[in-house]
Amino acid sequence: MSGLDPADWSALRALGHRMLDDTIDRLASLGGGTDRPVWRPMQPADREALREPLPRLAADPEALYRRYLEQVVPFALGNTHPRFMGWVHGGGTGIGVLAEMLAAGLNANLGGRDHAPIELERTVIRWAAEMVGMPSDSSGLLVTGSSMANMIAVLCARTAAAGPAARSGGVGGRGLVGYAGASAHGCLPRAFDMAGFGTDALRIVPVDRAHRMDVAALAAAVRRDREAGLSPFMVAATAGAVDTGAIDDLDAVAAFCAAEHLWFHVDGAFGALAALSPRFATQLRGIGRADSLAFDFHKWAQVPYDAGCVLVRDPALQASSFAQTLAYLSREDRGAAGNAPWPCDLGPDLSRGFRALKVWMTFGTYGAERMGEMVEACCDVAAHLARRVEQEKALELLAPVTLNVVCFRVSEAGAPGADLDWLNGELVKDLHESGIAVPSTTTIDGKRAIRAAIVNHRTVREDADIMIEGLLMLLRRRLQAGETAR
Ligand SMILES: *Cc1c(COP(=O)(O)O)cnc(C)c1O
Repeated sequence: MSGLDPADWSALRALGHRMLDDTIDRLASLGGGTDRPVWRPMQPADREALREPLPRLAADPEALYRRYLEQVVPFALGNTHPRFMGWVHGGGTGIGVLAEMLAAGLNANLGGRDHAPIELERTVIRWAAEMVGMPSDSSGLLVTGSSMANMIAVLCARTAAAGPAARSGGVGGRGLVGYAGASAHGCLPRAFDMAGFGTDALRIVPVDRAHRMDVAALAAAVRRDREAGLSPFMVAATAGAVDTGAIDDLDAVAAFCAAEHLWFHVDGAFGALAALSPRFATQLRGIGRADSLAFDFHKWAQVPYDAGCVLVRDPALQASSFAQTLAYLSREDRGAAGNAPWPCDLGPDLSRGFRALKVWMTFGTYGAERMGEMVEACCDVAAHLARRVEQEKALELLAPVTLNVVCFRVSEAGAPGADLDWLNGELVKDLHESGIAVPSTTTIDGKRAIRAAIVNHRTVREDADIMIEGLLMLLRRRLQAGETAR
């Protein structure tokens, strides 16, 4: 035997059907209000079971699948579960599962060359531009996530400021500086780090009480830097801040960038999806004016991991930021090496998977309108949760609820004399270990907050209620035991 295909396909076929049935059964059991645990901790033996040397000899895939069911699935993070509200995690869909299977079956490499999967990615990029109102000939790329998308945008802004010559000569000594609000995601300083500017070159602009970038403070910072002989080149606005869901005044930032000849970038990792909701789209006014936009399909759009997206208004500029001429990647006027420019000309990856299929199938299945309704339904759950928090004497809201993120905590009234920062952190860990719900934590105005982001399409009001009741039960337990301070 030389190839890796089985001599008899029937066993693989039967196994595949079973895997699909089991997966669909599991998704079907995850409705809102379910009493399945969201997460459970791995015991040392559970970790040990997964540590093993490189297998030297063949094994039965059936046995591997059994191990997957017993040793992996029960200890997944739980973000398919309706009461997973931590960080910003998408819930996935059944059609996404099928699309991943089909993509693996085709095993397409979307780095370049002339094949239909590339056309599908171009279509999805046009859809993304249409969704936010950027020009239909904007270029773009599906990438791992918004971290990479923001990084690509920063490199495009670098080209806009310093020209393609910066790719060979670097940007040292040019004094290029960029700006982002204090609510910006950590991937932006990281992009400045990785791009060689250094994180100090990303100026952190104060935010107002609603956690939106203070545009007057932005203007003052740019003026100061210009007076100091530096070269401001980009502003990264946030549409849907990771801590609170706050949306910067994109129109105002766009106007400022236009007047000051600065690159206008928007990080809309999850918030950009609100463009599909007539109710929330007005809050994103100005997003279509972006020079570049980063957002994720794997968060609020429910496409399975991973699927981020970057859009760049000027296609030539994106290509001039990444394209290379290499003999072994020569582009031809016909044959399989045609169809330039290739996706590898638009970003750092050469080999790339067929992410476009799962995006295409997700939007094709549900349609943009239903996706917008799903976004609104998540925001409705968040609004319900916020009202619930306001009604409970023991709880307080820590930030206004703009979209789908609710930051709150057990208040002084709920635990008199307690170390509230410590207590709220412990209660979140208690909740995780109870299996009832998985929110995460953050710090809002110096206070440790419990943070619930409603990103999963399966989450309903009842899930928010179960989370709050679980939290209050765990609080009572700690009050009774006197365990409210370190
Ligand atoms: C999640 C997030 C990111 C990072 O996106 P990844 O897909 O995790 O790389 C960036 N910005 C914001 C606002 C986010 O919520």
